[in-house]
Amino acid sequence: MPLVLTNSLTKKKETFTPIDPLRVKMYVCGPTVYNYVHIGNARVFVFYDVLERYLKFLGYQVERVMNFTDVDDKIINKAKEENTDSLSISERYISAFLEDMVALRVNPPKVAPKVTDHIQEIISLIQGLIANQAAYIASDGEVFFSVRNFKDYGKLSGKNIDDLISGARVQTDEKKRDPLDFSLWKPQKNSLEPAWDSPWGKGRPGWHIECSAMSMKYLGETFDIHGGGMDLIHPHHENEIAQSEAYSHKPFARYWLHSNMLTFNAEKMSKSLGNIMLTRDFIKKYSGEVLRYFLLSGHYRSTIDYSEQHIREVQSALHRFYTALSKAEIASKMPGANTSSFNPEEDKVAEFGKTFDAKWKEAMDEDLNTAKVIGLVFEYVRLLNAYIDKRGFKPTNNTSEICQRFVNSFNSLAQVLNIFGESPQDFLNQLKLSILVERKIDAKEIEEKIKSRTEARARKDFATSDQIRNELLSQGIELRDLPTGTDWDILFKNS
Ligand SMILES: [Zn+2]
Repeated sequence: MPLVLTNSLTKKKETFTPIDPLRVKMYVCGPTVYNYVHIGNARVFVFYDVLERYLKFLGYQVERVMNFTDVDDKIINKAKEENTDSLSISERYISAFLEDMVALRVNPPKVAPKVTDHIQEIISLIQGLIANQAAYIASDGEVFFSVRNFKDYGKLSGKNIDDLISGARVQTDEKKRDPLDFSLWKPQKNSLEPAWDSPWGKGRPGWHIECSAMSMKYLGETFDIHGGGMDLIHPHHENEIAQSEAYSHKPFARYWLHSNMLTFNAEKMSKSLGNIMLTRDFIKKYSGEVLRYFLLSGHYRSTIDYSEQHIREVQSALHRFYTALSKAEIASKMPGANTSSFNPEEDKVAEFGKTFDAKWKEAMDEDLNTAKVIGLVFEYVRLLNAYIDKRGFKPTNNTSEICQRFVNSFNSLAQVLNIFGESPQDFLNQLKLSILVERKIDAKEIEEKIKSRTEARARKDFATSDQIRNELLSQGIELRDLPTGTDWDILFKNS
């Protein structure tokens, strides 16, 4: 089955066919570097990382370009607040962003251009637009894009230009011919603002023009995929199309992909509402695996709601998955024995396992339905657990094959989602520790209680032994008596 993607430009699901059959060129709008990225921002970058991984899995080479907006009012204001210059602000948050992406296991883009390194390209693009009468110069040197002169304006957002103009606030800027016209080049207001020489005087580029200039420089005038978060559709992406096509007279990006928002307890995550969860704080508290899983647990075009409860469900699901993977790894090495033992779950898991790889690929081909892939994973885990945990489980001749297939499937799925690929022991140990911190339980205390219980059992004091077991159980800690001694694990309410 071919890969199908929802194209925001045509509002349709379309079969994906790149211009070059071997190579996919894509551009993603990167961060404005004036603060740390929150988990809603991270969703876009994880989505594009998975898209790139899947395209590579399908055999394409991928050229992904992601810009850094390092000139902007927000950066200038932050620099003023901190009594420093824009450059030190942008450098600080570029390195913070790169650190966060490493922790999120997002592959770095092939090129990550900065606006301040591309002023010449931006100036020539604006000159081209003026020459094409798509832009005009106001008396103070500000250059505006003339929205009315671009007949296709609104084709991405589906907004009608006359509705937009009548809906726009009363025009306060007399320099503009139309209230919708947007700035391509802003004259320097004071000497503290970063500025470059241009044919229109000292100034700096507006926000939208940078993405047109940098995407066309690295990917050509027409390329395959462009995207970002849904909040960028209008005006940012609409304006990018207008600038680029008014300049080149060619179609700009062929497929526009947009990932949806993350809500916070059903509200929009925003700085003004004070409900921001920073990527770095989340990863420190939970882990990169938990965040990626959470962000991929919904389809990219649907909103996902962040809540403590949702994260507990993610932890519980990953606990269930890695426990199953650990069992499968051990059981895959078991010698085949006892062929006479009958376990009716064996056929079910064997059958599901044989079609699992084809099923998850099919779900990815259906507009990258990671939510469906995760559903399939847990169906597989349920069948494997039913097989292994069956009372009186004895390995059969098929056990090692069934379990090895389970392990192998996740080796390949992990390449695409970049989750489900950790060592089960490492993941489960780290998860245990982070949950103990959350529940304010000391690991040493658990070990001491286990020791007292072992001693009680040795002197056949079963009342004390049961009391200790129940005490721990009430804290969500379950004891497991194994031939090698007593082990403990976290108990999740819903697992
Ligand atoms: Zn952009």
